[in-house]
Amino acid sequence: MKVLVMNCGSSSLKYQLINMENEELLAKGIAERIGIEGSFVKHETTGKEKAVIEEPMTDHKAAIKIVLEALIHAEYGAIQSMSEITAVGHRVVHGGEKFSGSVVIDKEVKAVLEECSELAPLHNPPNLMGIYACEEILPNVPMVGVFDTAFHQTMPKASYMYALPYDLYEKYKIRRYGFHGTSHKYVAMKAAELLGQPLESLKIVTCHLGNGASVTAIKNGKSVDTSMGFTPLEGLAMGTRCGDLDPAIIEFWMKKENLTIAEVNNAMNKKSGVLGISGVSSDFRDVEEAANAGNERAQLALDFYYQRVKKYIGAYAAEMGGLDAVVFTAGLGENSIVARKEICKDLEFLGIKIDDEKNSIRGKETVVSTEDSTVKVILVPTNEELMIARETKALVG
Ligand code: AMP
Repeated sequence: MKVLVMNCGSSSLKYQLINMENEELLAKGIAERIGIEGSFVKHETTGKEKAVIEEPMTDHKAAIKIVLEALIHAEYGAIQSMSEITAVGHRVVHGGEKFSGSVVIDKEVKAVLEECSELAPLHNPPNLMGIYACEEILPNVPMVGVFDTAFHQTMPKASYMYALPYDLYEKYKIRRYGFHGTSHKYVAMKAAELLGQPLESLKIVTCHLGNGASVTAIKNGKSVDTSMGFTPLEGLAMGTRCGDLDPAIIEFWMKKENLTIAEVNNAMNKKSGVLGISGVSSDFRDVEEAANAGNERAQLALDFYYQRVKKYIGAYAAEMGGLDAVVFTAGLGENSIVARKEICKDLEFLGIKIDDEKNSIRGKETVVSTEDSTVKVILVPTNEELMIARETKALVG
């Protein structure tokens, strides 16, 4: 069984083709600048030379056609014909309250996803474009939707409500949803495997620290709290997103700078976070480099970032009534030795002791805490695509 995993953004499309007999990655790639001049696909079939296909792609349908042609290409393709694709698994950002697990996409599901677009206007419409385009090009291939929000649907009401007038929840479903669920679930499962203990017996805090970042409290295999909320803006400071702040700032800021709500919203999403504080970059590599060279604001941005993650770890340990493991994943979590060290610093009172030697590692699944650390610190490279392929197989396989 070969599953094509699709992750459609507004102007990009990431894909992987995975053989689900042995979970082998057959090919992967990205289509960029969809609908913009200069569009191209970077394609790589495992064991073959990379290919860059420069062709105009006016929309997602055009991009998917080129991706499929690349997959069956005589020279750099991975399969003989499109009929080898058994199913397509789509990453869908927002499943609202309707989906607490993955689903086979049908007419009804699409209608609900259209409704959810209001909750994730930047993400769900391109996800849907990918679904409609695949449907046209691969009409008889079953498709599965895997939602970023689904894993967090187990949160108790006390975790997901906002302290706003209750009718806002009833009328408009204003509540916390949480994101990165596929990643949090995958790394928690991997961590349990690594510890040789059932996930259902563990209290884990998973830290997905990438361009977007969130922390999740996973108790007995279920998400019980997570740092992102109604949108992916809440919680940690991120590359360019501000995360938690006093909502009263918004009106104050609008008045002082004569800005519209859209302008403030844009600044909170695109000009804040580590970029906002440091003034250097949203990329942690640049910010770490600047801090090492003595840039004080870069150091402040990092200190601020580490402190937020630490705060959530402490809060979630308290919420779960204990802690067995902290898991680090995504770009920064997997690669930054200093970030893991600084976040875990001074958490010995919780039983967290990082081992500097073991922690000097990047992108490998391993325990990085000391032997006597009662809370294990674990590095797990995330693999959302594999998780999507597994869920797809489970539903249509
Ligand atoms: P992701 O969204 O998971 O792809 O993560 C992207 C982020 O990971 C980038 O913005 C970088 O800041 C960060 N990152 C990747 N590699 C490193 C590294 N070697 N050291 C520090 N940060 C890194």
